[in-house]
Amino acid sequence: MLIAAATGGAWVLYFGDAFEIMGSVFTGQAPMSVYLWIGILTFTTYTLAGIMREQVCIYMCPWPRIQAALTDDEALNVTYRVDRGEPRASVKKARAMEAEGLPAGDCVDCNMCVNVCPTGVDIRKGLQLPCIQCGLCIDACDTVMDKIGRPRGLIAYDTDKNIEHRERGEHVEYRLVRPRTILYTVLISCIALLMTYVLVTRTMEDVNVLHDRNPVYVQLSAGGVRNGYTVRLLNKMHDERQFVLSVEGLPGAEVTAVGQTGTAENGFPILTVGPDTTREYRVLVAVGPGGWQAPSTDVVFTITDVASGVAASADDFFKAP
Ligand code: SF4
Ligand code: SF4
Repeated sequence: MLIAAATGGAWVLYFGDAFEIMGSVFTGQAPMSVYLWIGILTFTTYTLAGIMREQVCIYMCPWPRIQAALTDDEALNVTYRVDRGEPRASVKKARAMEAEGLPAGDCVDCNMCVNVCPTGVDIRKGLQLPCIQCGLCIDACDTVMDKIGRPRGLIAYDTDKNIEHRERGEHVEYRLVRPRTILYTVLISCIALLMTYVLVTRTMEDVNVLHDRNPVYVQLSAGGVRNGYTVRLLNKMHDERQFVLSVEGLPGAEVTAVGQTGTAENGFPILTVGPDTTREYRVLVAVGPGGWQAPSTDVVFTITDVASGVAASADDFFKAP
């Protein structure tokens, strides 16, 4: 249960300041939703990893299917050396067979490789879908080989092609560089580069704008037109920040944020967002009589950090008769 809580329940730490959440959880001050999610994630982790165990590997995990699609007969996989292990027989029986001049393999049929396998695979029957390539059967068999004084490696990383080569008494070879491995290397490198690029160039602020659906505009008694928006600001930094919200594309527009009085020198409102959080504002954009050219005008909402000057923008529109 403790391991399930530490590995599964800890997922809640992704959704806020980890140290703050930890502190509030242990002092009993965290919101009920935090305790609820820790409970749900601990329960599901315990069920999957503590009770269902290999059933997850065999029936639910997509990895074996992916692995089967990626591998080929020249890929290094956990492999039982059939040519060396067969015919299998206990140590005593093998000695008797050898005394009679019959061939005896190195496998003593102790079943250790099957007993240690977390998914219950008998690797001596060949590579199978539930095998997660953990290598535990390699270690178990090596231990047995050490005990009976036979060379290690009866189960080892090898290729299907080499198994066939050995059966035919041919030379074994390992071809690490081949079209498939080159393609995988190129693909993985491209994905790694893309992820690095996204990480390095990620912004620490963002803005989303949602135009009011109903009414799309309001005609003011003085002849002007006003549109309403819901503007959500995102601050990914650990400090509170202030942004100037400006609107471009509509000359002379008056921009106000409901409940906010602070304005910048250019008259646009200043909006505050707490550390590592998002905040929603209701914003009204109004123009005087004749201040619009068309029933729909493209406008750009831009938030500019008062301290650093970095900015983020979102496109929207201004509706008029
Ligand atoms: S652990 Fe090795 S010797 Fe024992 S059954 Fe498996 S392959 Fe054979
Ligand atoms: S590598 Fe792991 S999963 Fe595969 S057969 Fe061996 S012990 Fe089982």
